Amino acid sequence: MFNTVIANNLKQFRKSRGWSLSRAALETHVSKAMLGQIEREESSPTMATLWKIAQGFHLPMSVLLEPHSVNPQTLAKHSKTQLCFDDNLQFRVLFPFDPLLCCEMFAHQIAPGKVHLSNPHEIGVIEDIIVITGELQIKLTEHWQSLQAGDTLRFKADQPHGYRNCSSELAVFHNVIHYPKTISDH
Ligand code: MN
Repeated sequence: MFNTVIANNLKQFRKSRGWSLSRAALETHVSKAMLGQIEREESSPTMATLWKIAQGFHLPMSVLLEPHSVNPQTLAKHSKTQLCFDDNLQFRVLFPFDPLLCCEMFAHQIAPGKVHLSNPHEIGVIEDIIVITGELQIKLTEHWQSLQAGDTLRFKADQPHGYRNCSSELAVFHNVIHYPKTISDH
């Protein structure tokens, strides 16, 4: 079901831009073969791949993950059960992208010993981190800083950044992504 939502969204956004698979591959840096597999529901994209697609299409990531034109109650219920797996980072959507507020919110989990590095987001994107349980480290400008449960961090996400868990416990954190007005008019 989850793959169906992503497949339909990808097809819809690609068609609405009039992009071929080749053009979409050029824009997203995700191979044409992989994009085709995702559209045919033959492959589950990793979080890293979803980010590349979102960036290539200049879309907030949760827009790819949520079904469109459903009422808000359905959407809230749906997002509760939605969990996406990656080797290093697991996440679910807490609040899908809201075009009025220009933000989206995720709950992330990162297992002990795991690292997730992120390419810069669009210019002007800001991230908030709220650590719920465990200990999390965030990399900014080549420097890792430690955050404990209850700690918060707001940073400019239009630069390379990373998330890692050097502890022996699972780290759970919430992540709000704020977009500048210019990219939210999709
Ligand atoms: Mn990020």
